[in-house]
Amino acid sequence: MLIETHAHLYFEQFDEDRDEVIKGASEAGVKKIINIAVDLETSTQCIELAEKYEGLFATIGIHPNDATKLDSSSLGELRELSRHQKVVAIGEIGMDLHWDRCPVKVQERAFREQIWLAKEVGLPIIIHNRDAGRKIIHILKSEGTEGLSGVFHCFSDDKKTAEEVMDLGFHISFTGNLTFRKSRLPEVAEMVPLDKLLLETDCPFLAPEPKRGRRNEPAHVIYIAQKLAEIKKVTFTKITEITTSNAKRLFGLGERAME
Ligand SMILES: [Zn+2]
Ligand SMILES: [Zn+2]
Repeated sequence: MLIETHAHLYFEQFDEDRDEVIKGASEAGVKKIINIAVDLETSTQCIELAEKYEGLFATIGIHPNDATKLDSSSLGELRELSRHQKVVAIGEIGMDLHWDRCPVKVQERAFREQIWLAKEVGLPIIIHNRDAGRKIIHILKSEGTEGLSGVFHCFSDDKKTAEEVMDLGFHISFTGNLTFRKSRLPEVAEMVPLDKLLLETDCPFLAPEPKRGRRNEPAHVIYIAQKLAEIKKVTFTKITEITTSNAKRLFGLGERAME
């Protein structure tokens, strides 16, 4: 069994065939999928989908590019939604200094407020980091990471940042960009211990080789697992077993799974 820890199945790219995509993932052995929200509306959509499929789980949260949407009212609604039994994390939250969509100060405020929420409700966080590794680590240290866990998703930073992330006790997950030719990420993955790794696609984006350039989907975590097995010099089975147990432990996924 594999666990896809980062999908955006509510996007319109899946409107035509969402059921088949989820069924296809299950047939490929991907029995649990975490659907990741980017704002209040998609937080609700993630929960609705999680109610429909046994093996689907949800997160709630506001993406740094949408940070202006976080105010006391939306924060209150997120707090309510976080109590739903299939909500397993707060995310994706963090900082994005690549796209200039939202002032840095606003992003930082939203990130901190959602870290407080995660601590309050006892859920792990899914961190989005785009050209903002230093800033994010500074914020996490200043907030204190005791009692806080989570993952740096779609890791594309350097080795030094990866080391600091692990010092803070956080997990690291790679998407399709790990498989791209000329990627320097395999060097980073090589140094991450097996018990800190998770699998994700970030679909519909970042399809891995050999599907690069096409729409990505949860079944494609298999290619990420294969690449990781090659980098870590272990069997495919070993990678799937360990990343599955890492994801179950971090997100408290229990036994619910796709048929
Ligand atoms: Zn992201
Ligand atoms: Zn994402």
